[in-house]
Amino acid sequence: MNRRRRPCLVCGTLTRNPSRCDTHQAAWLAEQDQRRGSAHQRGYGAAYRRTATAAVAEHRRQYGDWCPGWRRPAHAATDLTADHIVPKAVGGGDEPANLAVLCRSCNSSKRDRPPADGHRV
Ligand SMILES: [Zn+2]
Ligand SMILES: [Zn+2]
Repeated sequence: MNRRRRPCLVCGTLTRNPSRCDTHQAAWLAEQDQRRGSAHQRGYGAAYRRTATAAVAEHRRQYGDWCPGWRRPAHAATDLTADHIVPKAVGGGDEPANLAVLCRSCNSSKRDRPPADGHRV
């Protein structure tokens, strides 16, 4: 089968994608995400979510269902999530190095946000 290829709009490399090669398709999608200002400002755009999902998957591959713990010893946990180490609000990025994989409970204590109204668990 000889599938029809088209040149990438950006670099001209022939691709099976409709308009851009894989690289520029990904860059273009990331740019579209960033243009949706509010999601970008919150730091939870689609591109970030993909990075976060990949970080959790990689963590599971290496350590299994195991939370490294936040101000408490490591423990077994199945509800792992990725969160920013340096918050976006103070200049942290979405790169994997700035993501910590922790269970939900550790992640919420990491957020250093005092409970709004004495909510008890
Ligand atoms: Zn390209
Ligand atoms: Zn934990």
